[in-house]
Amino acid sequence: MKTIPFGYPIIGDEEKKAVLKVLEGPILVHGPRAKEFEKIFSEFTGANYAVSVSSCTAAMHLFYFSIGLGPGNEVIVPAQTHTATAHVVELCGAKPVFVDAEIETGNINIEQIESSLNENTKAISVVHYLGMPVNMEKINEIARKHKLFVVEDCALALGSYLKGIHAGRYGNVGCFSFYPVKHITTAEGGMLITADEKIFDRITRQKAFGVDRHMGEREIPGVYDVKMLGFNYRMSEIQAALGIEQMNRIKSFLQIRKDNYQILTKSINDMDEFTQFQSSHGDYLSSYYCFSAMLKEKFVPKRLEIVNCLKRNGVGTSVYYPKPVPHFSYYREKYGYDENSFPVAAKISRSSIALPVGPHLGPEEMKYIVQSLKSAIAEVK
Ligand SMILES: *Cc1c(COP(=O)(O)O)cnc(C)c1O
Repeated sequence: MKTIPFGYPIIGDEEKKAVLKVLEGPILVHGPRAKEFEKIFSEFTGANYAVSVSSCTAAMHLFYFSIGLGPGNEVIVPAQTHTATAHVVELCGAKPVFVDAEIETGNINIEQIESSLNENTKAISVVHYLGMPVNMEKINEIARKHKLFVVEDCALALGSYLKGIHAGRYGNVGCFSFYPVKHITTAEGGMLITADEKIFDRITRQKAFGVDRHMGEREIPGVYDVKMLGFNYRMSEIQAALGIEQMNRIKSFLQIRKDNYQILTKSINDMDEFTQFQSSHGDYLSSYYCFSAMLKEKFVPKRLEIVNCLKRNGVGTSVYYPKPVPHFSYYREKYGYDENSFPVAAKISRSSIALPVGPHLGPEEMKYIVQSLKSAIAEVK
């Protein structure tokens, strides 16, 4: 039997050495490594500016805070996403207005956005679900027409491209996550990218209490003024050191994900219990975060049994996401959504099984996953 975790961070000697080197010196925050990580990240994505932060959630919260989002405002949020995409709107006192997913990709159903807008809407947020890029040209067209900000939740989209342009560069900001199971990790951590110097400047200050002068800009050490509110959402030098080393491996990480994904695509294509999401095609290039297989309706009641069989065989799985965000108790109780709302997102949550394709795995593991899946199906039938 093999043991195949759903996600497993790849931390090698380079990462360990880099972290030790930080620990041997006096600079744990406000140092050169966060700056270098930002530079590498902006080069990789082609962004004008990158700001390292403590998480993807922090990145999104900072942006909404920086534009003054508050009570009375609304933001379009995809129903099929991580709860963070909605929480950051709530945290500002504004209201998330959820829009259902499209069944082909799990991404936001763009056709349903305009009917959810009103004079209180300030922004549209999207998530590139499992790394499959949203049609950002259409999103930007709607945003331009109604003068709205666009936030891209790119937590699963490092290595996703639309028309050769990296995800996160179409919106006002793109927000990335370096949580352990994501494409690269800094344990906890995130990055915000933007093309807008004003946003960059404001967010750089607001991630560090809103002080008017950064460490390097202070003429007299320790002397600064505070002209705005801010958080402490900085990334430490330890995390940045990890991030730099992880970015050195990003190309191979992405290639392995793609190869693994393609093995699963081919094998699962032959199994009529499942349907697959549309993946890379034409101008749309996925980052292959994981392989999510959707059970056909008849087999949905067997899902947990199948997952348990896989688990017994050592195959780790996950669910993206366990419920549409508006069906979580907090949102249901606050806004009164019922179970029949957001039927497409609900169907995806109810029927999908996410299989790993991460760089901790290779072709042998993919074959093993397929075999285990086949025997699980045979067992529950
Ligand atoms: C993981 C994830 C987040 C949260 O990222 P953190 O870095 O843990 O804040 C947000 N959005 C999506 C889509 C995610 O998958």
